[in-house]
Amino acid sequence: MGNEPVSAYVDKRRQSYCDLSDRVWSTPELNFQEFRSAAEHARMIEAEGFRLLKDVAGMPTAVGGEAGREGPVIAILGEYDALPGLSQAAGVAEPRPLTHGGNGHGCGHNLLGSASLLAAAALKEWLKRSNLPGRVRYIGCPAEEGGSSKSFMARAGVFDDVDVAICWHPGPFTGVTTPLSLACVEAEFQFSGKAAHASAAPHLGRSALDAVELMSVGVNYLREHMPPGARVHYAITETGGTAPNVVQAQARVRHLVRAATLDEMWSLFSRVVDIAKGAALMTETTMSWSQVAGEANLVGNSVLEQLMDDTLRRLGSPGFDAADKAYAAAIQATLNPGDIRAARKNFNLTPDSSDALSEEIYPLGAGSPNAIGSTDVGTVSWIVPTVQCRVATCAVGTPAHSWQMVAQGCAPAAHKGMIFAAKAMSEVAAALYSDPILLQAVIREHAKFRAGHPFRNPIENAAPLSLPAAPAN
Ligand SMILES: [Zn+2]
Repeated sequence: MGNEPVSAYVDKRRQSYCDLSDRVWSTPELNFQEFRSAAEHARMIEAEGFRLLKDVAGMPTAVGGEAGREGPVIAILGEYDALPGLSQAAGVAEPRPLTHGGNGHGCGHNLLGSASLLAAAALKEWLKRSNLPGRVRYIGCPAEEGGSSKSFMARAGVFDDVDVAICWHPGPFTGVTTPLSLACVEAEFQFSGKAAHASAAPHLGRSALDAVELMSVGVNYLREHMPPGARVHYAITETGGTAPNVVQAQARVRHLVRAATLDEMWSLFSRVVDIAKGAALMTETTMSWSQVAGEANLVGNSVLEQLMDDTLRRLGSPGFDAADKAYAAAIQATLNPGDIRAARKNFNLTPDSSDALSEEIYPLGAGSPNAIGSTDVGTVSWIVPTVQCRVATCAVGTPAHSWQMVAQGCAPAAHKGMIFAAKAMSEVAAALYSDPILLQAVIREHAKFRAGHPFRNPIENAAPLSLPAAPAN
C-alpha cells in the first residue's frame, strides 16, 4: 500500500470520472455560464473530501478543492466550458446536431477538467498515505474560450501562493506542450462625435464611424511594420446605427493585439492606441479605450518539461484497441488527407503513418510554430512555474473546434486519453513533492527568468468582469 504509485488511485476511480466527463459533455455551457458543469465538479470535489473553494476570484463558475496543510502547493488546473454552434451527437462519423445552433464541447474541456480533478484527487490520497508535507489544489477555471479567466484569477491573487501549476489539453497527439503562445490584449476603442443630418447639415456633424474606419486604415498600414509573428485583428462592435442619413455620433471597435512576448505586445498595443488617437484627431471626435481580455505568452520551464517528458514516456500510451482505431479511421474519412499528413509533420512524427490514433509521444520541443494562438495558461506561467502536456483523445487530423472533436468527446479512446493524462499529471506532481531538490531547481529557473522580465498582466486595467448570477433552482 505504502509503495502504491499515485496513479493506482486514478485506475480505481476511472469509471466515476469518465461519467463526470460524459455528464459535462452532455451539458455544454459557454463562457462564465458553466453553472451545471461547475456544480458537477463541486459535487465530486466534496465527494473526494477536499475543502471546497467556491466562487474563486469572485467568479460563480470557478470552483476548486484543496487538501493538505503545509509544504509546497501544487495546483492542477481544469476547464469545462464549451463552444457555440457545435451541438453534435456522440459516437457518429457524420455531422448530426443534437440541438440546432446549440453548444458543443469542441475543445474537449469535458475531458480536461475531469482528468485534472482526478489527478488532484489521486494526489490528495497519495499525500495522505506517504505522509509527505504538501498541499494539492484543484482549480476549475471558467471561460477559457475567450474569457481570459485565468488572467483575472491571477489579478485576484489566486496563484500567488502556488509553487507549481500543471495542466493538459486533449487533442490528436501526446507529448509535452511546447511553451509557444502569443501574448495578447483585447481592448475596446470608443469614439464619440456629434450627430447631425447627413444631408441638411453635414458640416455640423463629427462622425465616430469615420474614426473607426480611419483607425482600421491606420492599423492596416501598421501591419507592414510589426514584429514577425505579431497580429492585430478587429471587430466593429457598434457602428452608431443603421441610418445613413445620420452622422454617427458613437462607434466602437475591438482590437485584439498579439505578439510573441509580453514586452513586444505592450509596445505594439501602444502604437495601436496612437493610431486611435490619430483617428480621433482627424475626425474631431474624442476617444477612450478599455481592456477587455488578455493573456500573457507561455513561459517554459525546462526542468518541468523534462520531468513531464520522462513521465509520459514511462507511462507509454493510452492503450487504444482495434475498435478505437476503427472509429478514428471513420472520423478520418471525413477529413482532408493532406491535413492529416500536415498535422503529423507539425509534431515531427512520421507523416505517412497510417495510425488513425497516435500512440507515439512526439519529441520534446516539437510543436506547431506556424499555428499558434493565445492561452490564459500563459498568464499563470509568468506567476508560477507551469507545465502542460497534450494527450491523444481523438483521431489524427481532428481540427479543434469542429463537429468531429465533439463527436469523439465521449468515445472510449477519449476516456483512455483522459485517464492517461490524469496519471501523467499526478506522477509529475508526486515526483516534485518527493524530491525537494528537483522542486527547488524548478523554482530557481522560474525566478531567474522573472528577474530579467517584469510582468504586466494584460488585463491589469480591465474593469471587473460583469458575471451572470447563478440561475434560481
Ligand atoms: Zn481548449
